[in-house]
Amino acid sequence: AKEMGRDHYCFFSADMQAQSSRLLRIENGLRTAIAQGEMSLHFQPQWRVHDRRMVGVEALLRWTHPELGVVGPAEFIPVAESSGQIIDIGLWVLDTALACLRRWRDAGHTDLTVAVNLSLAQFRHPDLVEVVQKALQRAGVPAEVLELELTESIAMHEPEKAIACVRALADLGVQLSLDDFGTGYSSFSYLQRLRVHRLKIDQSFVRNLDTARGMSIVRAIVEMSRSLGLATIAEGVETPHQLEALAGLSCDMVQGYHLSRPLPVPALEALLEQRALA
Ligand code: C2E
Ligand code: CA
Ligand code: CA
Ligand code: CA
Repeated sequence: AKEMGRDHYCFFSADMQAQSSRLLRIENGLRTAIAQGEMSLHFQPQWRVHDRRMVGVEALLRWTHPELGVVGPAEFIPVAESSGQIIDIGLWVLDTALACLRRWRDAGHTDLTVAVNLSLAQFRHPDLVEVVQKALQRAGVPAEVLELELTESIAMHEPEKAIACVRALADLGVQLSLDDFGTGYSSFSYLQRLRVHRLKIDQSFVRNLDTARGMSIVRAIVEMSRSLGLATIAEGVETPHQLEALAGLSCDMVQGYHLSRPLPVPALEALLEQRALA
């Protein structure tokens, strides 16, 4: 038993060492990632269901580390969050997304919105409202075409603060959506007070749309949203059947691989040109 214990110890220790060295390399790499041009944004189209028009895009951060290769945001965002680097990275995302939007507006796409994800540290930062306002000014785009996505878990972290912060952002004129909706524990009364504009129905619910129970849950979310005056967008739509089901339930918007993957800027711009012809 002693022998085995030692083996286990060695095994886990080597494993943990590899993991912590990867995290260390990620944290170090993040320091210079923007300056060295390793970060980029992909944009995933969002479609209005009733006329099947692409009316928005969500900015999603992409990073190619010089040695580790592509590192996904699900892995590096938490590292950037705990090291505080997310503040600078988040500002870069906001500026870059708005600069793209400005170009697209100049090309005539004035009804297009761009959604940017906010992290907990950004959301808690005392200067957030000012930072957003200045970024809008720098880019020269109106507030209404910027949408900020905060997750349900961020909003629940400090509920009263979140209500005040969302109100201040909404007063600027930006749109707010509650991401990963249904994975947290928001109550009706909280949603009533948290003045977001849109709920993003989490992909875990969309995936279950082929079952009767799954349909009932999404129907309940859409109906509750409507009665609270909130719009709905379903994310992670991967099949024609899911799209049909969501259209049948009168979900307002959809986003997912079935319609389009997140695209690098040139591919997104090609899609925007097609849209202009339609
Ligand atoms: P999220 O905000 O919930 O974004 C949706 C994720 O689902 C994205 O993963 C997207 O590529 C993926 N996705 C889209 N359609 C489908 C589909 O049909 N099926 C499946 N299975 N997945 C789909 P991604 O790009 O890897 O981003 C992961 C998470 O990282 C995001 O989740 C968000 O929380 C975070 N993130 C990404 N970019 C940023 C950013 O600029 N700032 C912050 N704070 N977080 C970001
Ligand atoms: Ca999101
Ligand atoms: Ca989400
Ligand atoms: Ca998510």
